[in-house]
Amino acid sequence: MVSRVIPVDLFDLVIFGGTGDLARRKILPGLFRRYCAEQMPQEARIIGAARSDLDAQGYRQMIREAIAEFGGDSAHSDEQLDGFLAQLEYVTIDARGDQGWKELQAMMAGTTRVEAYYFSVAPALFGDIAERLQKWGMADVDARIVVEKPFGRDLATAKALNATLATYFNEDQIYRIDHYLGKETVQNLMAVRFGNMLFEPLWNSQYVDHIQITVAETVGVGGRGEYYDKSGAMRDMVQNHLMQLLCLIAMEPPARFSPDAVRDEKLKVIRALDPVASHHIVRGQYQAEPCNEAANPGYRTAVDNPRSRTESFVALRAEISNWRWAGTPFYLRTGKCLAARASEITVVFKDTPHSIFGEDAGRHRNVLSIRLQPDEGITLGVTIKEPGPGGMRLIDVPLDMSFAEALKEDEVEQVDAYERLIMDVIRGNQTLFMRGDEVEAAWAWTDPIIEGWQARNDVPKPYDFGSDGPTDATELLRREGRAWRPVT
Ligand code: NAD
Repeated sequence: MVSRVIPVDLFDLVIFGGTGDLARRKILPGLFRRYCAEQMPQEARIIGAARSDLDAQGYRQMIREAIAEFGGDSAHSDEQLDGFLAQLEYVTIDARGDQGWKELQAMMAGTTRVEAYYFSVAPALFGDIAERLQKWGMADVDARIVVEKPFGRDLATAKALNATLATYFNEDQIYRIDHYLGKETVQNLMAVRFGNMLFEPLWNSQYVDHIQITVAETVGVGGRGEYYDKSGAMRDMVQNHLMQLLCLIAMEPPARFSPDAVRDEKLKVIRALDPVASHHIVRGQYQAEPCNEAANPGYRTAVDNPRSRTESFVALRAEISNWRWAGTPFYLRTGKCLAARASEITVVFKDTPHSIFGEDAGRHRNVLSIRLQPDEGITLGVTIKEPGPGGMRLIDVPLDMSFAEALKEDEVEQVDAYERLIMDVIRGNQTLFMRGDEVEAAWAWTDPIIEGWQARNDVPKPYDFGSDGPTDATELLRREGRAWRPVT
């Protein structure tokens, strides 16, 4: 394995909600992988802080089980696991009361290490925790806080949350996490765009016909029904993940790869988005899987709300009103219980101005696909002559930049989004985190769409379990002479 791991500074990471689903499934297994990669200093401490009445031994046992269940198949020795667990501490804490804060204060007293506090709890507790961190003397100017999504449910609540956090912390101490930004391919997208001469001159409305962003899931709402029904795909996926991908694909080249230079350019994209007309957006709700309704119920059954008007699918046509992109549609779609699980950005270039090969050669377009999951990689479709006799027939073949092929995957260390982002927090690098004004601008664009649905009493279109979504979503592109890329 090629190791290019640079150890981070010594740190203390307090995880509020350290016994929760996210901590057990993602955060702790990710930190363990960083430990095995020797990126985590031996003296670093991870302090779980949650409501459960546990001691350090009980917490270590809980995380041992979590790593066994969610740690993937990464090879590690018993010594490594024991060594990692020995770096874990635990404090029973009440985010809304006084219990546990004195103990936590004593643990953190006099530390000269990097101090990070991960708010892996319901957003309703963010303000309580921030307030108590200050009250107990832990909100010093070097402390960093990591906050999970959802960051508000509309512009007003996001502003209120930003204002609350700003009471106790400066913007450069706040790390708003969107794990999509931690994916290898997302960073590769920036490398491809800004590290090559080849693409950037073509990256505009003159050469790009349209761009598609798809985040498709095969699963339903699962155990998140109660939360999801108050949220829906627009708030849960479009306002954050899809919006972030849109920004990265559409932004101007930043002057340098530094947090505010990148985030300034992303913000300009969001602010240049036009309002979305109601005929440019399709909402859907999945139906039960035929003959398997018990295992895969329809959306309304899954959320236990027979009259729910919340969408589990959104497809929309966005436009960015600036010199680079005016007139180029950006089609975004996301949904649950679809045919395949895939996250992909596709840049479809325009036809050549004139085909010298005649009508029989067919219409061929260059398509750049940036795939985030599964099988992260970038593929450029180019047109070539079909080999063999029989004249000039054109076919499209992929110029594949998949990491597996080019970099011999076994030899390159794979890093999960969460572990990369947590290490960035310790390094103090905010490039891959959302700034407060970005989040607010995204809500300012999203709010009128949701308000429009509410004002019209809009009912989502039903779609079949395991399909590509409602037929109206297909129509959204078909009427403009385009088609969604198949979800595979
Ligand atoms: P969870 O319900 O599984 O865990 C909640 C945690 O908060 C527990 O450790 C609990 O002890 C603690 N907690 C609750 N009330 C408390 C209080 N008063 N004082 C102290 N601790 C308290 O939740 P989760 O799924 O781990 O999600 C945590 C956060 O991460 C949420 O904001 C969620 O939206 C976000 N998130 C979760 C996921 C995921 O996959 N689970 C994905 C993205 C974002």
